[in-house]
Amino acid sequence: MSETQVQAYGTEAAQAPLNQLTIKRRKNTPHDVEIDILFCGVCHSDLHTARNEWHGTVYPCVPGHEIVGKIISVGDHVSKFKVGDTVGVGCLVDSCQECQYCREGLEQFCEPGATQTYNSPDKHLQTQTYGGYSERIVVDENFVLRIPEKLDPAATAPLLCAGITTYSPLRHWNVGPGKKVGIVGIGGLGHMGIKIAKAMGAHVVAFTTSESKFAEAKRLGADEVVLSKDAGQMAAFQGKLHFILDAVSAQHDINEYLSLLRVDGSLALVGAPEFPLPVAAFSLIGGRKSFAGSMIGGIAETQEMLDFCGEHNIVADIEMIDIQKINEAYERLLKGDVRYRFVIDMKSLKSSQ
Ligand code: NAP
Ligand code: ZN
Repeated sequence: MSETQVQAYGTEAAQAPLNQLTIKRRKNTPHDVEIDILFCGVCHSDLHTARNEWHGTVYPCVPGHEIVGKIISVGDHVSKFKVGDTVGVGCLVDSCQECQYCREGLEQFCEPGATQTYNSPDKHLQTQTYGGYSERIVVDENFVLRIPEKLDPAATAPLLCAGITTYSPLRHWNVGPGKKVGIVGIGGLGHMGIKIAKAMGAHVVAFTTSESKFAEAKRLGADEVVLSKDAGQMAAFQGKLHFILDAVSAQHDINEYLSLLRVDGSLALVGAPEFPLPVAAFSLIGGRKSFAGSMIGGIAETQEMLDFCGEHNIVADIEMIDIQKINEAYERLLKGDVRYRFVIDMKSLKSSQ
């Protein structure tokens, strides 16, 4: 397999900061496109993985799965894209494309295992996959998304993970007019959850631990906002919600939120904290409630989400950073101190050489 070298930012160990390093990319095979990365969002999963909080990280690790860039070359058999197209890559770069789930457009649940954009065994090179904190990436055209022309490319990058991870469960649990929906944790995912649930026509209730986000959640589209530390405010929503999307990255009491569901209501976790979240039997059985989970979304659904966001003019609220500020950004992410997604301007990596 012929290869090229590109500059990237990654880490060699769980306790080490991210630094500039050199990684290999394959040269295009017939169905590949080569993308010059313009912007990459910073997802909390990048931090969990870089620091081995999910216990499966292979080093060196180059995170980044909210990628927007321009195609600079295409393989001989590429039919969906051409040089110059502005495209996106999310959390998946490959899957078997044959199993039942892949055929149904649920590549994220591919039976032999999907290839994630970073920290998955690379099918072409004898390394792990390396993500979007890098100059360029080479991806099978079937895992590349079209970016709606009218959306700002930098603010669109977070849709590739935060957008689809919230859109998919909101669709799956039939959120729409007449439904009261809670969004818990107003970070990168949560703020997209508010915007998307609102655009789907639901009545949206945002739950935050941050007093400073209280007013802003309404600007993002929430009909009501609850300071989750305030027992009185929480009590007002007992048994009121049809669905709750929980996008919290750390430990919290899930039972408090289950009590807010109506009979037959569901709470879906998308947040992936390091440690288990205990659930009391009586939080569920007293209202035939469901405690569920959801992971990103398939490729067709990701395109559907991008088109939906194009129609509704939805992008992320972003703070642009140079890649040299990534370690500082991780510390701020841990404190909930970002409005609402960091996006790396990849020019900063290219100009550092
Ligand atoms: P983020 O921007 O850091 O947002 C997380 C939010 O959770 C914070 O803004 C904060 O919201 C709340 N929070 C943080 N610590 C808390 C605590 N101790 N108690 C209560 N609330 C707390 O992270 P993100 O990028 O949105 O990701 C959120 C989670 O989803 C992460 O665990 C990430 O790995 C996971 N994720 C899952 C998928 C999937 O496919 N399922 C995809 C992407 C990400 P408030 O300030 O409003 O309280
Ligand atoms: Zn993510």
